[in-house]
Parts: sequence; structure tokens; C-alpha cells
Amino acid sequence: MQVYEAPIRDMRFVLEELHNDDGFGDVEGFEDFDSDVTTAILEEAGKLCKEVLLPINWSGDQEGCKLENGTVSTPEGFKDAYKQFCEGGWAGLGVAEQWGGQNAPHALGKMVEEMTCSANLSFGLYPGLTGGAMVALEAHGTDELKEFYLPKMANGEWSGTMCLTEAHCGTDLGMLRTKAEPQDDGSFLVTGNKIFISAGDHDLTSNIVHLVLARLPDAPAGVKGISMFLVPKYLPNDDGEPGEHNKAGPTAIEHKMGLKASATCQMSFDGSKGWMVGEPNKGLEAMFTMMNTERVAVGIQGLGVGEIAYQSAVYYAKDRLQGRSLSGVKNPDGPADPIIVHPDVRRMLMTMRAYNEGCRALSAWVSRALDASHSAREPEVRERATDFVALMTPVVKALFTDLGHESAQLAVQVYGGHGYIQESGVEQFARDARIAQIYEGTNGIQALDLVGRKLPHRMGRNLRSFFHPVSQFCEDHASDADIGKLVGSLQQSFGALQLSTGHIAQKGLKDPEEAAAAASDYLRLLGFVAMGYCFAKAAKVAHAKLAEGTSEEGFYKAKLTTVQFFFDRLLPVATAQFMAIKSGKASMMELPEDAF
Ligand SMILES: Cc1cc2nc3c(=O)[nH]c(=O)nc-3n(C[C@H](O)[C@H](O)[C@H](O)COP(=O)(O)OP(=O)(O)OC[C@H]3O[C@@H](n4cnc5c(N)ncnc54)[C@H](O)[C@@H]3O)c2cc1C
Repeated sequence: MQVYEAPIRDMRFVLEELHNDDGFGDVEGFEDFDSDVTTAILEEAGKLCKEVLLPINWSGDQEGCKLENGTVSTPEGFKDAYKQFCEGGWAGLGVAEQWGGQNAPHALGKMVEEMTCSANLSFGLYPGLTGGAMVALEAHGTDELKEFYLPKMANGEWSGTMCLTEAHCGTDLGMLRTKAEPQDDGSFLVTGNKIFISAGDHDLTSNIVHLVLARLPDAPAGVKGISMFLVPKYLPNDDGEPGEHNKAGPTAIEHKMGLKASATCQMSFDGSKGWMVGEPNKGLEAMFTMMNTERVAVGIQGLGVGEIAYQSAVYYAKDRLQGRSLSGVKNPDGPADPIIVHPDVRRMLMTMRAYNEGCRALSAWVSRALDASHSAREPEVRERATDFVALMTPVVKALFTDLGHESAQLAVQVYGGHGYIQESGVEQFARDARIAQIYEGTNGIQALDLVGRKLPHRMGRNLRSFFHPVSQFCEDHASDADIGKLVGSLQQSFGALQLSTGHIAQKGLKDPEEAAAAASDYLRLLGFVAMGYCFAKAAKVAHAKLAEGTSEEGFYKAKLTTVQFFFDRLLPVATAQFMAIKSGKASMMELPEDAF
């Protein structure tokens, strides 16, 4: 049973109560999005997700997409849902007013994205990719391209894709072969084959705007010879309507483990007309504008699936009767007690709950920084926010998707054998969530990005944007009557993180394999310390609310229990990651290849 109600109260908590002291609040341009408007938007989005997107989640998984006569059709109900999505203005929620959007802050937009990904991850990919393509186009496109394409993408009439991967290159894009030949009129003819392209073709929009990585004839080898091109499926006529087919289309759809209602296409570009976006040979940098946005978005996908997995597991745990409670019968009129009475089932539910609330709190912090990096009034705040977002982007991508997948697996476990059976609906979560750990740069690559690029960047400046508030908070609250004990635990984990950072800096300098061997463990430790910090702050807010008296006692008490569970059960395990980091690369790299 797939059960979902948007967690609006917790979203409001992390948006309005948790991070007010982070220094990222004084931004320009979002004055219209006060608490009432924010709540109204969250409620409307929650309604759309529950009533329109959720009912076609499982059926979409069962039906999948079809390629017939060169065109992909999405499962039943998707076209209508997309129409409602666009009519409600959701496609342009975070887009600048200049292009017809509503200019909502990222902090709010990410919450809506979380809901979409909970209710229907496959559906969420279509507008999600369009949003990412718009970001890249807005940052690097010519005025002409922007004026022509962005308004139609902002209202959802046209969608976007990112076309990087080829059969022989995924992580190592330096090997890509797609070519772009310059034409006299300033355009280019793009030729090559791409694989695994999300939303590469579908029937939701009248045109599709592909952002394609390709090489110019004289391009240097490797990543320094890649340029980015905008290649529409249909060449627009002068009136802006889709005209002639641009020989850019799907040759097959991939048959995959999950995410079946999202059309993942093999694509052929056969002398397709395109226009350069950004500078020659700087396409990968331009594409990274999109990929960084997408990496945070993919992290949110993990959180979204984790939330619906949790809610569906709670529903079942209250309904399924098996065994009796060890502390005495709880359901005397029934043949057995509901499985939610059993400590092991509680362990699973509380783990999922803590992951979701921790990730949501961290996502709100990061997306507030994302807003501040563009729109803070003070230049130093913009800089600090940029550093913080750079540091946290790989963490959000990898940690949230790992935890989202773990939550989906736990939901299957809560359902027992029924969870393994398709009709339960929960095995879909585990299949859908799995890809988020792989695409947009695998989680292993995110960890290398964190350790290899983000840590050393400008002598550790990125890291300071995170370490400073955490150490200040620990110092200020070490003897706090309410949260002093939690802060003591946070300090221990933070200490392990600092030692790990020193270890990587020292050993990695002499031997990069040492840093690489520590990278995934380090990312997880850093992510858990960040969640621990958010949770300790949440406890502070909750204690204050309970002390002053509130009609929402249940919410704040539950928050304190979840926080305590995180500190008792989850943070210590992540802190032990330090032991793995310290052990170095030896046992990982020693075995000769032929012994495998
Ligand atoms: C459903 C789906 C949708 C997708 N959507 C898109 C899309 O819209 N656009 C697009 O362009 N691509 C898309 N992709 C492709 C996706 O981004 C790639 O699959 C991913 O980047 C990994 O590339 P690969 O599959 O070639 O794996 P490989 O690069 O072959 O990697 C295999 C393994 O080796 C590891 N590895 C590789 N290099 C290193 C290294 N230097 N150090 C350490 N470990 C390394 C990886 O972490 C991984 O575990 C999609 C893929 C799928 C399955």
C-alpha cells in the first residue's frame, strides 16, 4: 500500500523555525513568500501530489513507457497529470519572473520537489530535468536563446534534457565522441549517439530542448575539448511553434530496474541543428551549472522516496497483526498485536523517520544557502553561502540517496514477505530509489568530489563555512540545561570528523589513493555530523516551544524523541566511520588483481 500525506508541519518547521540564525536569511526578491503564502503553496502542492500524482505511481510502474513509430508514450494518466501540473504553475515555481516564473525561493521549491518525488518519482523527473536545463541556459545561453526558449520551458510547454552519456563513457566524459560541425549561419550540426537520456522523448510536451555535449572539429582531447549545444527535437518556426523534425530522437528505450514511467532513451543526433551554449570547449563547465542543481535535486529524490517509504511502512505496521508485545498484550480483542509494538519494527520505523527529518532539515539549510548565494544583500554572505553550497552539494546528493534507498529497503522489511510482492507497492520504492545513487555522478564520484576538490578548495574555505557554525554552536551550548548532553555527543562526532579531515589532508597529500580510500566513509561522517547539528538545533527550538507553552505539544515532543533516537542509535555508528578512515588504504588495495 502506497500511503502519502505531505509532511507539511515538518517542512514548515525546517523552513521557518530551525535555521533563522544561520545568517542566510537576509535575501532580496522573496518578500512575497511570507509564512501564509509558503503554507498555502505547500498545501496546494501536497494536494496535487496526493490526489493527482500518487494514484498513477504504481500503475505507471506497471505499464511503463513505450516507443512506437519513433515516439515515446508515457503511461496512462501522465499527460493529464502533467497538464494539471503546468496549469497550476508548478513548472515555473522557482523560475525568474522575467521568464514567466514565480521566482519562489529554492528553500520552498525543494520542499515541493520532495513532495513530487515522494508521490511519483518517475513523473518528477520530467519537470526536474527541464528545471536543470533552464538553469544552465539562463547562466550560459545567449540573450536570443534565452528569450526564445526559457518562457516556453518555464510554463512547461517545452521540456528539457541533459545529454552527456555515451555507451563507452559515463563517468569519464573526456572520452565522448559526439561531434558538432560549425555552419555559416552560426549554428552547428550535431551528430552522435547518446544512451540513458532521461526524458529523451515523451508525449507530455510539444517540443523537447536537448542540451548536448559534443566536440568541435578542432577540439583538444579530453574534458577540455567538450562544448555544449542546444538541440531542439523540432526546429521552431518564426512564430515560435515547433516546425520541422530536427533528426534528434530516440532509437530505443532502456528496460530498467525501476523508474519505469520515466522514459530513459537511447538517442540519435543525425546532423541535428543546434546552437552553442556558453564558450567553445567549456561545455563541461557550463553543464556543471545544471549538474550541480541536479545533484541537489537528485538528493531530494532520495529524501522523497524515503518519506513515502516511511509513511507506507507506518501504515502497515499499525495494521498488520503478528505476535504479542513483550511488555503485555496491546490488542486484547484481536488475535495478535499490530507489529508496531515490536522493538525491531520500531527500530526500522524510527531509523527511517530520523533519516527523513535529518535530511529535510539539512536540505532546508543548504537550499537557504543556495538562495543566499544568489540573492543575499551582503557580498560576504553570498560568498560564504556559495562555499557552503559547494561543500554540501556532493553530501546532499550521495547521503540523501543512500539513506533514501536504505529507507526503501527498510520499508520492504517492515512489510515482510508482502513487501517483496509487487502488489504491496513498496518494492517499487526500493527499485525506484536505487538509480538516484548512480546517476548525476555515482555516489562514489560524489565522495571523490568532496575529498579531492571541495575540501582543499581555497585552503579549506568551503569546509570552514560548515565547521565554524558547528564549533560555535557546540561552544555556546555545551552546558545548556536542555541540550548540553546532545551537544556533548555532537562534539565527539565533530571531533572525529576533524581528525578524519586532518588524516585525509596529511595522507592524501603524499598519496591520493589514501584520500580516495577514505572518501565514502568521510562523506557519510560529515553528513551525519551536519544532520546532528541540525537535530541539536531542532531540540533547542522544541524545548523552548514546550517551555513557553504551545498547542502543538505533540509535534515538539515527537521531534525531541526523534532527535534522541538519532543521537542514541545512528550518530554513534556514523562516528565509528572514523576507525575505517584511519585504517587507510592498505587492506583495500593490497590484494593483487588476479586474486579477485
Ligand atoms: C535511469 C538512468 C537515467 C539516466 N539519465 C541520464 C541523463 O539524463 N543524461 C545523461 O547524460 N546520463 C544519464 N544517465 C547516465 C548516468 O549518469 C551514468 O550511468 C552514470 O554517470 C555512471 O556512468 P556509467 O554508467 O558509464 O558507469 P561507469 O562510469 O562505467 O562507472 C562504473 C563504476 O565505476 C566507478 N568509477 C568510474 N570511474 C571512477 C573513478 N575515476 N574513481 C572511482 N570510481 C570510478 C563508478 O562510481 C561506478 O561504480 C542515466 C542512467 C540511468 C541508468
